[in-house]
Amino acid sequence: MRRRLFASAALACALVASATASHASAAVTDPPEQWDQRIDELVRFVEAERRLDFEHPVPVRFLSEAEFRKEVRDWDGEITPDDRELAALEASDLLALGLATELVDVLGLEGASNEDGIVGFYDDETREMVVRGTDLDDVDVRLTIVHELTHALQDQHFSLHELDERAGGPGLDALVEGDAELVTVAYLDSLPEADQDEYYENAPDAGALAGPDGGAGGPGVTSPLALELWGRYPYDFGYAFLEVAVAAHGHRALDALFRDPPDSEEQVIDPVALEVDDRPLRVELPKFAAPDRPQGPADTYGAFSWYLLLASRIPWQDALTAVEGWGGDRYRSFTRVDAGEHSACVRLSVTGDTGRDSDELDEAIRSWAAALADGTSVTREGRVVNVDACVTDDAPPSGDDAMQAAYDRLWERTDQMWYLTTREIPPDDYARCVADHVVADPDAQPLLYADDEPTRRERGIVDDAYDEAYDACD
Ligand SMILES: [Zn+2]
Repeated sequence: MRRRLFASAALACALVASATASHASAAVTDPPEQWDQRIDELVRFVEAERRLDFEHPVPVRFLSEAEFRKEVRDWDGEITPDDRELAALEASDLLALGLATELVDVLGLEGASNEDGIVGFYDDETREMVVRGTDLDDVDVRLTIVHELTHALQDQHFSLHELDERAGGPGLDALVEGDAELVTVAYLDSLPEADQDEYYENAPDAGALAGPDGGAGGPGVTSPLALELWGRYPYDFGYAFLEVAVAAHGHRALDALFRDPPDSEEQVIDPVALEVDDRPLRVELPKFAAPDRPQGPADTYGAFSWYLLLASRIPWQDALTAVEGWGGDRYRSFTRVDAGEHSACVRLSVTGDTGRDSDELDEAIRSWAAALADGTSVTREGRVVNVDACVTDDAPPSGDDAMQAAYDRLWERTDQMWYLTTREIPPDDYARCVADHVVADPDAQPLLYADDEPTRRERGIVDDAYDEAYDACD
């Protein structure tokens, strides 16, 4: 048992997307001859921890709070009409699926969240690091430098821009951020205890960003929890899935993943799917019958998003059982035209890996739909389950509390699989079954990540939960 819950959640970084307009004119600066001396020690740490050497130094800019905010605000100037249309569709999808209780300004929330939350970034176009803060004695600033240095190192060895073109998506996001988090957490662990205590005391805890009065958007503007959790996913789950991979295969697993990145959320949230290289199946959406009109592009929804969606209305254990058999999916927004009335809707189609997996998804999705709203229909065609959900006059009540708990349990079960891997139990179906049982145990679960050292009695409760799980999964 360790005190290390979501250390990563306190850090938010941004990899500047190279495709954004302003960078068309941004000059690639020649790398400096030498590192900024003040960060020499951190450069050595990152090289040793990541087992890779820098090919050349990287320029770094330290900005004051006001300068950094301005830099981030300037990104908003790059928002296009297409961005606005997609954001409007995302807002109505969130409402139709019961993941928000009102139509939200997705871009506005994102901008505010970036300005408040981002602590630094590495720009893979200009190849420079930008850090929020000018005091290098500040632990937070040093952690940010370590995190961004890891991105620079990734870029020099694996070319992030080229990787993004070839394999961009939620699998790559989690790999890139999780790798940086592994190094950052290792750095934090290497600091004197007093520095670590200071960090943990000031760090926002896992739920802090999602609180009703804090977090993105400032007072009065509440960001839907689903948006917050999607934003944290690459850090939290990126860290957790790589922690399992390194325990199972050593540090070379990291470089191997950069050469062949995971191509789905499923491989990030489920260590078994990564081990057996469970690749997504292609799913086609049923045709939209006139006068209904599709809106925006079709895309993959993803196993993690399905899990949050289902767990917002049904027990997380049932949602987890269902998504463990996720095979592939597709979704697209559409406008339903019924007797001249227009409603904003979204269509999702999902298949299991096997017929039985599809049955489990079918059952979970029907329970979810029954708890959601009248505007939701579920149909089945062979192995594919289809959902149409529409915005109705009465928004369903928030499922955020259940979703937050589900997110935490999912992270914990991956972390427990890491623990099992260090005990010579490889990340397979058996280990996953054991971890699922332990985090579902109402007596043991609260003790797994308690702040205080466990008592003998508490240790006994956790041991008993493990023993029961070993028996149940055998
Ligand atoms: Zn990052």
